Amino acid sequence: MEWSDDIISRLRALWSEGLSTAEIGRRLNISKNAVVGKAHRLNLPARPSPIRRGEGHVSPRPAAPRRAQGPTLPPLAAALAGNPGPALRPIAPPPKNSLRATPCCWPIGEPGKPSFHFCNVSSVPGKPYCEDHAAVAYVRVRDRREDAA
Ligand SMILES: [Zn+2]
Repeated sequence: MEWSDDIISRLRALWSEGLSTAEIGRRLNISKNAVVGKAHRLNLPARPSPIRRGEGHVSPRPAAPRRAQGPTLPPLAAALAGNPGPALRPIAPPPKNSLRATPCCWPIGEPGKPSFHFCNVSSVPGKPYCEDHAAVAYVRVRDRREDAA
């Protein structure tokens, strides 16, 4: 077996690619043992044998990332790009999940203007408005009914 510089450089290249010694031998048309011996003499870096790879490793696969499991939420940026988002939702009173501490949703000012807001005073239990606005609202309803009558 003549180890020319050309063959040695090819051996180094194939070795660095991680090919098996048998495969390197096939490509260089030499025996596997010659490859192993020459690699040893060249002091090429040791690498795991392909036969042993996968053996003795308890967990060859790393644990899957948590975010890949179950339903995934789109990134915030994508969500904002894909829909108008909460900023453009119409202003609405909070859901009436409680009879207490529901802010009065009486509109003050003209909708669309910066000064427009809701009263937000604690409302009368069972009604969407505070005491004052509830009085106004129900008086108005009565007035309208009287007007219509
Ligand atoms: Zn009010």
